Amino acid sequence: MSPTLEIAVRVGCYAVVFAGMALWEWRAPRRHLVAGRRPRWPGNLGVLAVDIAAVRLLVPATAVGVALIAGDRGWGLFNLIGLPFWLAIAAGVIALDLVIYTQHFVFHHVPLLWRLHRMHHADPDIDVTTGVRFHPFEILISLAIKIAAVAALGVPAVAVLIFEVLLNATSMFNHSNVALPPRIDRLARWIVVTPQMHQVHHSIVREETDSNFGFNLPWWDRLFGTYRDRPAAGEQGITIGLPNFRDLSELTLWRLVTQPFRNDDHTSM
Ligand SMILES: [Zn+2]
Ligand SMILES: [Zn+2]
Repeated sequence: MSPTLEIAVRVGCYAVVFAGMALWEWRAPRRHLVAGRRPRWPGNLGVLAVDIAAVRLLVPATAVGVALIAGDRGWGLFNLIGLPFWLAIAAGVIALDLVIYTQHFVFHHVPLLWRLHRMHHADPDIDVTTGVRFHPFEILISLAIKIAAVAALGVPAVAVLIFEVLLNATSMFNHSNVALPPRIDRLARWIVVTPQMHQVHHSIVREETDSNFGFNLPWWDRLFGTYRDRPAAGEQGITIGLPNFRDLSELTLWRLVTQPFRNDDHTSM
C-alpha cells in the first residue's frame, strides 16, 4: 500500500463522514447547543489542523507504515504464532480498540495525562467537531502507543488502516449532536458506541465523565464495569463540559492548546 493511497483513503473517509454528520446534526439536532457552533468551530477545527501538522512534522512513520515493516520482518505475536491473515485482521482491529479503551481510561486517572485529555472534555457542547478536538500532545502519545501495539502484536497493515478509518469515523459519529431512535439506539449499543452513549461521558458530573470510555466497540465498558446507560439528569437535562474553562474566551485555538499548562478556574459562561 502506497502512502499516497493511505492518505487518500483516510482524508476521503474523514471528509465524507464529517460532512454527513454535520448535515445530520444541522437538520435534526439532539439538543440545543449552549455556546453554539460559531464560537466553537474555529478553535475545534484549528486544533485538528495543529494535530495534523504535529503528526506530519514530528512522527516519521505512520502506524500503517510500521505494520508493513513488521509484516516484512515477521515481528509481533500474530506473525510468531502464524495466525491466518483474516483472523489477524479481525483480532488486530479488536485488540487495537482495547488498547485505545485502556489508554482513554488511563488518561482519565493519571493527573498529568488528564490535563491533556480534559481539553477534549472542556467543550461546553458536543457535536461533530468535539470528535476531532484532542490536544496535539494527546494525539502524539496516542500514536506512539498505537505504533508500539502494532509492532508488538504484528497487526496487518490493512487492519491498522481499517481501525484508523473506523476510529475517526466513529469518533465523529458518537460526538455528533444527533439522536438515534431509542429502540435503534438500544440495539446499536451492542455493536458500536452511539451518540447517546458517549454523551454520558461528557457529563459535568465526574462519576459520569469516568464512564463509557469506548470509542468504537461498546463491549469493553460492559466487560470492565465502566458502562453507564444514561445520565442521572436525563438526556436533555445533562450539562456538558467541565466545571472549569466555561468562559467563551476559552474557546480560542490559543486557549485550547495552552489549556493543559494552566490552573485557571473560569466558571462563568
Ligand atoms: Zn474522556
Ligand atoms: Zn468524547
